Amino acid sequence: MSQPSEECIEDAIRHMHERAFRRLFHRYQGTEQPKRCPLCGRYGKDIFKRRKNTEYNDEESNWVTGCGECYQAMEDYYTELWAEYYASVL
Ligand SMILES: [Zn+2]
Repeated sequence: MSQPSEECIEDAIRHMHERAFRRLFHRYQGTEQPKRCPLCGRYGKDIFKRRKNTEYNDEESNWVTGCGECYQAMEDYYTELWAEYYASVL
């Protein structure tokens, strides 16, 4: 009956961001050999397998290999999707 407040939604999104940043941080501790990003094709040092901001049942689908920029673009995309999702269910 009671509507969740806007703060609740903001909290949920902030929590999600924190999780994503923590994951990113962990990934950046990896090796520093130049590799090629399979998404944009550029060589870089920041190409890792990273956990996506998704909750697919198939765990492999929640991971993506790519450079930081591609990953960030993807995270932004999923964050937007999640925000839309939260907006529609709350
Ligand atoms: Zn890339």
